[in-house]
Amino acid sequence: MKHEIVVTAQGHKGTLERLLQEFSALKLWEAADRDAALKAAAPRMRALAHFGHSRVDARLMDALPKLEIISNFGVGVDQIDLDAAKQRRIIVTNTPDVLNECVADCAMALVLNTLRKFPQSEAYLRSGYWPTRGPYPLTTSLGGKTLGILGLGRIGEAIAKRAQSFGMKIRYHNRNRKNVPYAYDADPVALAKNSDVLLAVTPGGAGTAKLVNARVLDALGPQGYLVNVARGSVVDEAVLLRYLQEKKIAGAGLDVFEHEPDVPPEFFALDNAVLYPHVASATVETRKAMGDLQVENLHLHFAGKQVLTRVV
Ligand code: NDP
Repeated sequence: MKHEIVVTAQGHKGTLERLLQEFSALKLWEAADRDAALKAAAPRMRALAHFGHSRVDARLMDALPKLEIISNFGVGVDQIDLDAAKQRRIIVTNTPDVLNECVADCAMALVLNTLRKFPQSEAYLRSGYWPTRGPYPLTTSLGGKTLGILGLGRIGEAIAKRAQSFGMKIRYHNRNRKNVPYAYDADPVALAKNSDVLLAVTPGGAGTAKLVNARVLDALGPQGYLVNVARGSVVDEAVLLRYLQEKKIAGAGLDVFEHEPDVPPEFFALDNAVLYPHVASATVETRKAMGDLQVENLHLHFAGKQVLTRVV
């Protein structure tokens, strides 16, 4: 007999297919009356598979009183109320490590594209300006510059390795100093002050909300660049937009935004911003690996075994 699970949203296609094949699933996004569907299923539902940005809050947990595990697709769990899960002794799992290399690749691409303006130079060529306006204006080198990593965790360390091979120097700030061969700054302002490129790769959520604010951007200064692959919530987006418009910082590379998929259209007009639609882990291989881990955690839990990647 297949175990029953709630699936919150239509996520990665291959993973959704596995979930629907290997479990008996309530597809919550299809329910015409969500509360009624949850009420009917609640006596049997011990597990929930989550995709995307919708909130998994205390209300949803209370609607599923038999819930034992929330298995999230993705390493970031800021959309899940972890305190509420802990209080209810609900296990929360995520999909760390399997995405480190891809997210680090994306972060490096943003660093390169933001300093070297490759997307803008390609748009210049495609617009037919090369023969009429001459060579594309000079850009900024990576070699010798300092990359300040705000959140030197699993992904941050993978970014540091790559950046070093580009000739960049590495500094970082975490709340806790690590045993790593990189210079440590005691707070984000000091890190920004000491960096040419400030790169945010912390978790999202209340603890990091607007960690990159006007004070940090002032410290980064008019020659400094910001790259964000963390969460939109980590940066004060309105302030960043103004600082880019007024050239109070040199440029920004952004994979994440405050209200995805809606990006303030004022960003589109900026020549000093490179914008990606939250694609850092979006490869066939990495998304499959994330899904496999999400599904594996559910199977292990139903088999009475330890899950692989427990957050709480
Ligand atoms: P880790 O937990 O390994 O690393 C997070 C790091 O952030 C830790 O070093 C932690 O150190 C630091 N940190 C946490 N809170 C703060 C704070 N308030 N101030 C300063 N540093 C802080 O996570 P991962 O590297 O696996 O992932 C990091 C994040 O990257 C994810 O949570 C997610 O938000 C984002 N991400 C984005 C993706 C995308 O598609 N753009 C894809 C995957 C991840 P300490 O606890 O000592 O402060």
